[in-house]
Amino acid sequence: MIKLENISMSFHGKHILQGIDLEVQKGETLVVIGPSGSGKSTLLRLMVGLLKPTQGEVWIKGQEISHLSEDNLNKVRIGMGMVFQYSALFDSMTVGDNVAFGLREHTAMTEAEIQRIVARNLRMVGLAGQQDVMPNELSGGMKKRVSLARAIAIRPEIMLYDEPTAGLDPIMSGTIDRLIMNAKRVLCVTSVVVTHHMSSAFKIADRVAMIHGGRIIEVGTVEQIRQSENPVVQQFILGLK
Ligand code: ATP
Ligand code: MG
Repeated sequence: MIKLENISMSFHGKHILQGIDLEVQKGETLVVIGPSGSGKSTLLRLMVGLLKPTQGEVWIKGQEISHLSEDNLNKVRIGMGMVFQYSALFDSMTVGDNVAFGLREHTAMTEAEIQRIVARNLRMVGLAGQQDVMPNELSGGMKKRVSLARAIAIRPEIMLYDEPTAGLDPIMSGTIDRLIMNAKRVLCVTSVVVTHHMSSAFKIADRVAMIHGGRIIEVGTVEQIRQSENPVVQQFILGLK
């Protein structure tokens, strides 16, 4: 579903990612962990074509996207939902209009159907009835949840979540974890989740990849990661860093 081949990424000559090979199968949840600044958000941006790699190829559903025209790239993106680390809501639109945006753009649904989905999705993220609120009236965690409700509205085959539970209380984090797991179980969504919450990572992941020093230093099932003999991985998951 998603394949990165020998990806390298530099910003102004500074190497951030080097020689990344990674594959995510249909219906799989891959969790990406790693220190702050290690390139996790960069990796997600590459997957959705918001950044072009300095080197290497990004394949989404059998199509190499780093050489696509903007038009063709947009067609690929319709099947992808992304929750950004710093939620990117449209500030001049209500919460309801934010969630409805993709449905209005990309589907022929009636307004009644759209409103039903908006209401359901807001309920799923614990924001029932908040349709008419403006984004600047929300806390950071609430904005994050609105962007999640928006991203899943178009039922994408692929979801990329950048720290979906950052800034949320434990109860709400659990709700979001379950939402991610349900999207996989019910809709067979292929997901890549960046998180700093190890308990969340171990709960939702089919596989975990750890980035460090621009490379993937370990990738495997939760069990394999827990038993990794790499001291950097061990330190990281035990929170000693
Ligand atoms: P965090 O856990 O803090 O979110 P991260 O692993 O997501 O960190 P990235 O945001 O991918 O890290 O950034 C990786 C590195 O790339 C950082 O050193 C950052 O300064 C740099 N970087 C990211 N985007 C850009 C950009 N557009 N221009 C220049 N440098 C960038
Ligand atoms: Mg990040």
